[in-house]
Amino acid sequence: MEDQIQEKTAASATQEAPAVTGTEVPLRERRKRPRISETPPVPAPPPKLEDYVPIIGQAYVDELRYLAERLRGRSVKMVNSTAVGGGVAEILNQLIPLMNELGISTKWEVITGGNDFFEVTKGFHNALHGGKFNLSKDAKEIFLHYNEQNRQRMEFVEDVVVIHDPQPAGLIASKQNTRGKWIWRCHIDLSNPHLDVWGFLRPMVAQYDTAIFSSPAFARQLSIPQYLFFPCIDALSEKNKELDESYLDKVCDDFGIDRKRPIVTQVSRFDRLKDPVGVIQAYKLAKKYVDCQLVLAGGGASDDPEGAVVLKEAQDEAGSDPDIIILNLPPWSALEINALQRISTIVVQKSIKEGFGLTVAEALWKKKPVIAGAVGGIPTQVIHKLTGVLVHSVEGTAYQMRYLLTHPEFAAGLGRNGYEHVKENFLMTSNVRRWLLLFQILLGAAHLSVPEPT
Ligand code: UDP
Repeated sequence: MEDQIQEKTAASATQEAPAVTGTEVPLRERRKRPRISETPPVPAPPPKLEDYVPIIGQAYVDELRYLAERLRGRSVKMVNSTAVGGGVAEILNQLIPLMNELGISTKWEVITGGNDFFEVTKGFHNALHGGKFNLSKDAKEIFLHYNEQNRQRMEFVEDVVVIHDPQPAGLIASKQNTRGKWIWRCHIDLSNPHLDVWGFLRPMVAQYDTAIFSSPAFARQLSIPQYLFFPCIDALSEKNKELDESYLDKVCDDFGIDRKRPIVTQVSRFDRLKDPVGVIQAYKLAKKYVDCQLVLAGGGASDDPEGAVVLKEAQDEAGSDPDIIILNLPPWSALEINALQRISTIVVQKSIKEGFGLTVAEALWKKKPVIAGAVGGIPTQVIHKLTGVLVHSVEGTAYQMRYLLTHPEFAAGLGRNGYEHVKENFLMTSNVRRWLLLFQILLGAAHLSVPEPT
């Protein structure tokens, strides 16, 4: 498969853009009306721990069971702001069943809010990534009002409560009436936050027992202990599991993608911080020298009100170029996204700001050469010229597209190294291990298990 792609890439890289052939006419027609599934598929059963043995080995799985043994019967609640779309939902969907299988009763709750709340929290999100924001009295009140509303309807009876990201950070007001340990798990890049917004959130964060960040650079000055957790992908999820060639062909057919020509793909929510417009501009520059198709596949998250506007900006930038395929996918498109990543010659993640960028790990796991913005958690995954290439501009992205499309052996090497890097550091099982150790520390389970001196 990899070799086939290399051959195709090498052949096409030296050619002028091909004339439209008979088979391409239907493909181009299909692009205008891609077959996008309208109904969610029956959810796949979650993987069992034993299923990971072929990937990480029996010893690692045994170690997880051993660590969990001391936590058996403990309970955990995870809270975030969206059940679908975005990296946090992606991780929780896979993490929760594994925790439960390990005997730690783990629940997941999603906070609710009106459009006004999600406008404010999206503003906070952008501001914490360094963007501009007017932190008005209204914005603060809206944030606190919805946090209070959710707090009133939720119960916190578990041993550990994990609050993900800023949106539900205000639930900490319940801590004083509960017995559990409270963790704030921050997935976003806080290295250069808007000072007013961080100044507003910080007193809430300071009340937690501990905070977790995705990179040492994101840690803030806080009086509470801080831990480093890499985000992770699940090798066995619908998003990352191996797929049959026939399914890859079907997805290409559904979306009008020509597998005989190079394919450059970015999978991301339509969000300005993912810079879909910049990706199109880079593709246009590269396309002057090498033939390729560009696939931009995304969708919305229910806590992101900007998606439709950014999608329109991308469509406008694409204009009538028949080789730009923009797919606005529903939230149940994990298999399709998996297939799109697998059929890609190159995967791009040209983020301007990024907490971690799970899409990068997903692509590396599929042995893809990745071109990614040198921001946030991406450089942890993409070690320049070893596990991918880092870029800082539209021109840099275009240069790397052209280079990788014309140097398929180098590109394949990046993909191979990237796979090993993910296997070592960014798989769900490593994440489970970190949670188990942290729960032991917080609940004193490790300490309790030490035998009493006689
Ligand atoms: N994703 C998806 N559908 C989309 C766009 C993205 O399922 O239309 C997934 C993507 O595959 C990845 C996650 O959502 O698993 C995005 O996580 P990432 O950390 O890259 O970015 P975030 O959206 O959290 O900022």
